[in-house]
Parts: sequence; C-alpha cells; structure tokens
Amino acid sequence: MPDDYAAFLKRARAKVPEKVGTGERFVMPQMDVLQEGKMTIVRNMSEVLDRLNRPSDHLVPILLREVGTAGSYEDGRLVLQAKVSPDNLQGRLEKYVETYVICGECGRPDTHLMKEERTTILKCDACGAHRPIKGAAKKAAVKPEEAVVEGKTYEVMIEDNGKRGDGIARRDRFTIFVKGAQKGNVYNVRIDKVTGTLAFGEIVSSQGAATTQAGR
Ligand SMILES: [Zn+2]
Repeated sequence: MPDDYAAFLKRARAKVPEKVGTGERFVMPQMDVLQEGKMTIVRNMSEVLDRLNRPSDHLVPILLREVGTAGSYEDGRLVLQAKVSPDNLQGRLEKYVETYVICGECGRPDTHLMKEERTTILKCDACGAHRPIKGAAKKAAVKPEEAVVEGKTYEVMIEDNGKRGDGIARRDRFTIFVKGAQKGNVYNVRIDKVTGTLAFGEIVSSQGAATTQAGR
C-alpha cells in the first residue's frame, strides 16, 4: 500500500540520527547515584566518561580528591567508600567539566588535554582555542596513592594488640591488623587485603622492638 509506504519512509527519515557529538550543544551528563549503606555508587560512570571523552584515571582521582573519600572505578561503576550525596557528586562533576572539558571560547566539549612542559593545556578540537588549566596542573601531575595498597609491604610499628591478639598499626587513615605481631615491635608487613580504611597484613620480617631515637 503506497500510503503506508510513504508513512514508513517519513518515519524512517525522522529516525535518521542528527549530528552526533561535534557541533551539538553540550548537555551535562547526569550521574546515576545509588547509596548503599556506607558506600555510594555511580552506576553510569562509564557513560559519563564516554560523554566527556576523558579517561577514568583522569576524572576519578580528581573526583575522589574533591569529595575527600577513597573509591575505585570498577566494571563501569564508580564505588565510593563513603556516603556522598548525589548533589555533591554532580556538583563536583560539573566543576570538573568546566575546568577540564568545556572550551572557554566556543563552549563545546570537543576538547583534549595536552601537556606543555609543566602546564596542562585544554585544546579545543572544534575552534582551535586553547587555555592553560588554572591551578590544576600541579595537583593533577601528582597522582595520589593510598597510604596502604594491597600487595605492598610497609614498615609499621604495632601500637596495640586487638581482642583476638592481632597487632594493630596505623598508617595515614588506615588501621592495619597484623597476624601474630606484638605491641611495640616494628615489622615489615605485606598487605593482603584492604577494606575501606581497614587493612589486613602478614609479617614479612621483624625489626624487633621499636627504639626511641629522640634526643640522640
Ligand atoms: Zn572551542
């Protein structure tokens, strides 16, 4: 039937995708945030990254530092080890976009970051404009590493013994439980597991009792 065919064609044409990406007005990605107990999960993190065309290892550390919590990017989701409100997260994301993504000249997101000596430059692929990222270069250059990382070995002093006899050490904001370690001793401890700010480690070697060097 010709009428149906004409209607079909009209529908098909209407579905022809509009220009994707370049040239389109930028729409801020909205984070899909889920709070689960003491954790916060951004379920659509990979889509957000795709939309912004930024790698996770750029956006995620900046976001975590801004929010002030530990977290990780896994299976396309951002998992934060604290309760963070969706508004807070979205606000930080928008600040990131303003600083690291949007061209100041034409307002488009089709940009990329370049390093020029010690300065990070935001270069626009749409209009060619470029500008230095203010105040961010130094911080972005030093990727913060957690004070306790699974698989690494640290020298720690046992400050206390827990109820079950484990030695307890502290490093930065982490509490480390060390099997068989004695209070007052210093050990090289390999971290087996980190959960939030709790870590569990094994003795690699003992350095004996802690000595006070003060005043010598
Ligand atoms: Zn531009």
